Amino acid sequence: MRKSNGEKKRTAFTEAMEVFEEAADFIGLNHRVRLELEEPNYEHIFYVTVALKDRLVPVPVSDAGRFKELAESRTSGHVETLADGSLVLPEGALMRGDVTIRDGFVKLAGKGTYRIEPGGPRRFKGYRVQYNDVRGPYKGGLRFHKEVSLDLFKALAAEMTWKTAIVDVPFGGGKGGIRLDPRMYSKDELEAICLRYMYKLKSLIGPNIDIPAPDVGTNSDIMGILFRQYSDGEREKHLTRGIVTGKDVRIGGSEGRTQATGQGLAYAVEEWFKDKNKSLQGATFTLQGFGNVGSWAAEILCGMGAKLLAVNDADGTIYNPEGIDVAALKEHVYQNKENIRRSVAGFPKAQAIAANDLFDIAADIFVPAALGGTITAEVAERLKVKLVAEGANGPTTPEGDEVLARRGIDVIPDIIANAGGVTVSYYEWLQNKRMEHWSEQEVLQRLERAIKTNYRIITDIAKGQARKSELHDSRNWVIGKPCHTRVAAMVLALKRIEAHYLLEGFSQ
Ligand code: NAD
Repeated sequence: MRKSNGEKKRTAFTEAMEVFEEAADFIGLNHRVRLELEEPNYEHIFYVTVALKDRLVPVPVSDAGRFKELAESRTSGHVETLADGSLVLPEGALMRGDVTIRDGFVKLAGKGTYRIEPGGPRRFKGYRVQYNDVRGPYKGGLRFHKEVSLDLFKALAAEMTWKTAIVDVPFGGGKGGIRLDPRMYSKDELEAICLRYMYKLKSLIGPNIDIPAPDVGTNSDIMGILFRQYSDGEREKHLTRGIVTGKDVRIGGSEGRTQATGQGLAYAVEEWFKDKNKSLQGATFTLQGFGNVGSWAAEILCGMGAKLLAVNDADGTIYNPEGIDVAALKEHVYQNKENIRRSVAGFPKAQAIAANDLFDIAADIFVPAALGGTITAEVAERLKVKLVAEGANGPTTPEGDEVLARRGIDVIPDIIANAGGVTVSYYEWLQNKRMEHWSEQEVLQRLERAIKTNYRIITDIAKGQARKSELHDSRNWVIGKPCHTRVAAMVLALKRIEAHYLLEGFSQ
């Protein structure tokens, strides 16, 4: 749909493409290449249906008075607690236990009153956008989140196309997932959803066609389930191991993959500090998101001498001016069984603050490592940092970018700052193909070189000065006039992608 003034409606995708358009103008990108890159090759939407189990949904304490007279019940078997406190019951648990039900409600001994929500089949919306494969198979994560859309996946799949080119791995870009909150389903239900998703996706992907990986709401366990479903019944199952990356190391995952995105971010930050003739020792940072990327970035940056002052996630924000003990915070979030939301909230060695206050804390670095769109113009005005190192995909809006530039706050853009994950995914895919297993040291050495070399090329493009060092050679890429670092990163991506079209030609 177009706006009446003839401009395209602004969406996550069109917003993400603004820097593409700017960089394409800046380098005079070939017109046909531009048309190829302005929209995805394929946009898949499909539905998966799965039977859910009965669950007990907690009744707020204020309403529980109505059930004072209800006798207490006891269920048998393993009960799983979900993020909102609902309980998923094993099959037939209500029939087998000592249970009193009134109007669809039960009172569980020692727990509280619950409404019974009967199980049954449910439908979920699945996506896979295959953006561009001129440099190699489509590559990109799977996101399980309640706020995903085709438009968002288009933006994220485009970003993967630029990112794989920037770190110079022979992949294109893709992205997909399912619209759901994975914390609201039991382990068995999630497994069933994943199996069904891969069942539908199988004919569209392959180890040399399109290779998913973990993203928000997915992890190595889910990659294992997807691999199992893809390879089920295959005669040469071992040859399909590269269908997903981010697997557990015991089933063909790469050493160093879990921490790779946080590690890559830390390498880029290290280079930024080197450029300023400063050290990370004693530098301070604030963080949004304490999932895979955020928690590893925090651990690695602290290992390099930096101090974490505050963290915000979906359920809380914590602050300690003396520095947050990241190992203890990881234990609180990931090991503490009581912490069903896996949140930083309630961490005893820091004080709780309001989510918005995170942006007012003075520090050297802010690392957004949650969802997109965090740094709006308003947030950019408030930030009291010298550097934004983007762990998340698309955390800064174009307006936010303008304000950061005006205020002299540097940005290490997402397409290089968080490219460590896809780089090590490539190493995993290579190891799977060659049936090899590399040491963590070897993986990290290669990763460090990939991130630092390409970061140097990007900073040279941004300065408009070609250079050659032991680590890098930017002479093929520099345009000769300076530009914003985000545009520079895109210039590197577009020049690498354009070369394929121009040198290989277009199939007719
Ligand atoms: P994750 O699911 O492990 O963690 C997400 C974190 O974000 C959680 O701490 C969650 O509480 C927090 N969060 C969610 N909604 C929030 C909100 N509204 N406000 C504040 N915090 C919120 O995800 P992840 O794998 O760490 O990915 C985080 C970001 O990094 C995403 O943008 C993802 O696309 C990007 N990324 C991930 C990888 C990877 O290898 N995992 C690679 C490149 C980029």
